[in-house]
Amino acid sequence: MRCEQCSMVPVTDIHTPQEYILCVGSMARMVLSGDAEIVYQNCPIDQLMDKDNKWVKEKFFHQFRCTKCGTIYGMLFNTKVGGQIKINDKVFDPSQYPDVEKKADNGDIGEKK
Ligand SMILES: [Zn+2]
Repeated sequence: MRCEQCSMVPVTDIHTPQEYILCVGSMARMVLSGDAEIVYQNCPIDQLMDKDNKWVKEKFFHQFRCTKCGTIYGMLFNTKVGGQIKINDKVFDPSQYPDVEKKADNGDIGEKK
């Protein structure tokens, strides 16, 4: 299903904001190089934080489609609990992205309020 152009996209859980920023960066590079295109986003990928480095939303969702094989990758990140990158069958189906429950042994995600 995937091709060599997009096979490096990690299909994985995202545990920390640092991981998320890395994923966003690699996706942005694929878009810039023409290997992928953004097909859905609820926030521009260069405006995830405001000028005070605060998240502008609690939940971010982006979809990228490989320009070669058409595989759609959905990237969800909830700033409170983490997120994931999954292969999507079609553009934007948020029901495939239930909130990740905070695990007891993983209490260092995000900020506790
Ligand atoms: Zn591909």
